[in-house]
Amino acid sequence: MKITLHVTPDITPRPLVAEVILETRVLLNIDWASVKPKGGGGEVAIDVPHDQYDQVAAAFEKRGATITALVQPVIKDDDECVNCGACISVCPTGVISFRDDWSVQMDLEKCVQCGACVTMCPHAALKVGKY
Ligand code: SF4
Ligand code: SF4
Repeated sequence: MKITLHVTPDITPRPLVAEVILETRVLLNIDWASVKPKGGGGEVAIDVPHDQYDQVAAAFEKRGATITALVQPVIKDDDECVNCGACISVCPTGVISFRDDWSVQMDLEKCVQCGACVTMCPHAALKVGKY
């Protein structure tokens, strides 16, 4: 599952992700990070195994960070989607594919929220989910 880690300026310099990996022994995949310069705070989007979410969240929270879980990284409006497949070729992680009946399906566990599919869609059927 996807989470966003919110860090305040006082804890930004700490290697929080490395500390949590070492403590929990859970391998975390960073999708993207946005940290303000000059000691500002920031956000880091991380992929966490579902069954280890509680353990990882507790380890971050005891270090002063806050966590927001993302239920759906990309939302598709099925009323707008015409199953053209334009979004399939631009997705860097293979989230989107055709079913046997040529309708489009999404494996959202693989999504890194890059937004490429949103830009490509000619029917504005896609939007990036918010944390
Ligand atoms: S946001 Fe990026 S990774 Fe996610 S489905 Fe769209 S193209 Fe793929
Ligand atoms: S590009 Fe848009 S309309 Fe085409 S298959 Fe993807 S979501 Fe549907």
